[in-house]
Amino acid sequence: MTTNKKIGFHLSVAGGINLAIDKAAELGINALQVFLKNSNRWTAPPLSEKDINAFKDKWKSFPDLSICAHTGYLINPAGDGENLEKSLILLADEIARAEVLGIKRLVLHPGNHKGAGIEEGIKQIAFNIDSVLERDHSGVEILLETTAGQGSSVGHRFEHIKDIIAASRYPNRFGVCLDTCHIFAAGYDITTETGYRNTIEEFDRIIGIDRLRLFHLNDSKKGCGSKVDRHDHIGLGLIGSEVISYFLNDGRFDNVDFILETPDDEIRSDRDNLELVLSLISQTGNK
Ligand SMILES: [Zn+2]
Ligand SMILES: [Zn+2]
Repeated sequence: MTTNKKIGFHLSVAGGINLAIDKAAELGINALQVFLKNSNRWTAPPLSEKDINAFKDKWKSFPDLSICAHTGYLINPAGDGENLEKSLILLADEIARAEVLGIKRLVLHPGNHKGAGIEEGIKQIAFNIDSVLERDHSGVEILLETTAGQGSSVGHRFEHIKDIIAASRYPNRFGVCLDTCHIFAAGYDITTETGYRNTIEEFDRIIGIDRLRLFHLNDSKKGCGSKVDRHDHIGLGLIGSEVISYFLNDGRFDNVDFILETPDDEIRSDRDNLELVLSLISQTGNK
């Protein structure tokens, strides 16, 4: 790639987590996001010594490749009873997997309060994640992801993310992942230059751009405020490629990675999404 920005994809780890690095190399990307286990299961066999070494050895051949991980979808730090117990065991396991692989950033959906209310949800999330972090010395950073606001999900307002971090006893263990599709679906209208500017200013005022580590760069099939999370290919959804270019060319995000989680379908390949994204990066330098 002809840019020094970190841009890449969430790629499958089918066949072995080290194979995702091969796929990244094949695509020529310098950022990669992976799952550390099957994302829809509570348990998974431990990573073998062989898996770990193969992954680390391969990563050494691509030292410029920035790799982050995404936690499984079952984890709900705002859950209760057995569900919460399993969630926290799994979260601790995923942090340990990231650490042993040398992955420093782990994306987490804040959680679903299931009727308890946002305020209570925020309290529970901070308290429960803390109970994992108090026994963890890995230094793996938890990236709280902005959500679309489906169901009872917490994290669809910047304030939710800020309040979780503020309520934690370990604020330094948290960063933030901003998903363009999610914030748009949640009601942040980024589709005009003014809307974009206001949204980023709001993010900065409430959370702080210094907390931002990662973008999930996705277009959206559903409208602003729909609270429905449906990713689309870059430029084919309701956000549009011009707005995507604002994010890519904003100098405040020079050190933030961009990961595409565009659909896996026949409409457009990863390679074509990548080519389009690269074409949106201004050649004349950042604004
Ligand atoms: Zn996510
Ligand atoms: Zn999503």
